Amino acid sequence: MGRRKGGNKGGVTPSSGQSSSSGTGSAPEVPAKMSVADPEGVDEILEERTESSNLDDPAEPLIGSDKTSADYYFDSYSHFGIHEEMLKDTVRTKTYQNVIYQNTFLFKDKVVLDVGAGTGILSLFCAKAGAKHVYAVECSLMADMAKEIVEANGYSNVITVLKGKVEEIVLPVSDVDIIISEWMGYFLLFENMLNTVLYARDKWLVKDGIVLPDIASLYLTAIEDADYKEDKIEFWNNVYGFNMSCIKKQAMLEPLVDTVDQNQIVTNCQLLKTMDISKMSIGDASFTAPFKLVAERNDYIHALVAYFDVSFTKCHKRTGFSTGPRSKATHWKQTVLYLEDVLTICQGEALVGSLSVEPNKKNPRDVDIVLKYSLNGQRCQVARTQQYRMR
Ligand code: SAH
Repeated sequence: MGRRKGGNKGGVTPSSGQSSSSGTGSAPEVPAKMSVADPEGVDEILEERTESSNLDDPAEPLIGSDKTSADYYFDSYSHFGIHEEMLKDTVRTKTYQNVIYQNTFLFKDKVVLDVGAGTGILSLFCAKAGAKHVYAVECSLMADMAKEIVEANGYSNVITVLKGKVEEIVLPVSDVDIIISEWMGYFLLFENMLNTVLYARDKWLVKDGIVLPDIASLYLTAIEDADYKEDKIEFWNNVYGFNMSCIKKQAMLEPLVDTVDQNQIVTNCQLLKTMDISKMSIGDASFTAPFKLVAERNDYIHALVAYFDVSFTKCHKRTGFSTGPRSKATHWKQTVLYLEDVLTICQGEALVGSLSVEPNKKNPRDVDIVLKYSLNGQRCQVARTQQYRMR
């Protein structure tokens, strides 16, 4: 999943949206849906509302009702648009397909649990690869479509679609051999679906069972991003002659989900955290990791950029994909954290600090991030702590 803003998987996307590529002079991409910070996204937002209004149940109260953010989260997966975006992310979907089709020895005669099945695509891959039975659990309305899709493709005898939350459904078997899931959100942890996978693992996975994917790692690097920071942050200083800088403070708080051109990268890329999904506990998704980013050239740093990769280490040959700026773009893009300061950094100097990540206490699908950084360079000395919230 990865919903991803811009991809949030459609709806509940974090502030995201736009595409950057500052520094490169390239044209911006189409603004992502829900890109509230982008006035140019207005048409698209209106268009989305118009579209969805055809489907609204008049008996259902609209915005302003007592829906919680969790309701909006699951609702966003009820619309096919977010699934279309995920399915068309070929880096994502083809990696899962290759993992399954090229490792049929893992699936043959095995019972599989697909956590968050969406359209049922991963369950279909597993069934085709010879799984004995696949339980496809999906809590959004897309579960109804998944049932139809399974039937239409002749897999009703192998795949059972269960509509409901993983945490609430009754699985017809006591254990499963394999758990497969595409749970990753923006910044890896946004949406916090990892907890659902860990819950399923602890409840149903047999000893020596496997989780696919089993390794996820988060990385950090630093970029030059003058043009885009100007466009997204400094913009609020003077809007048609008016001072709207109170919004600038909010814009700084929200990490931006966007693609970064690899030419913007100024430093090395640092591994922050590796999680082994087959062993970790829920608390391991909250952490503080130190970093040291060494400049590879003289440049200015405007932002830090986080991205992740995932691996399937139980395959015959280790397989996976990266969402980093040097890899083919995915719907997760990258996550940009703008700095209060513009850092004048010389080649060889190190920007050091730490990044703390934890689910927001009130809304656990949101992520609170605390960044501490300092640079003690020839031309710039700075130390600061900044907070961000992905929501
Ligand atoms: N497996 C599909 C969909 C991935 S998106 C694919 O690869 O294309 C993640 C899906 O998990 C969404 O459809 C979302 O509705 C579902 N989901 C998230 N949390 C869930 C939970 N607790 N129980 C059941 N489904 C969940």
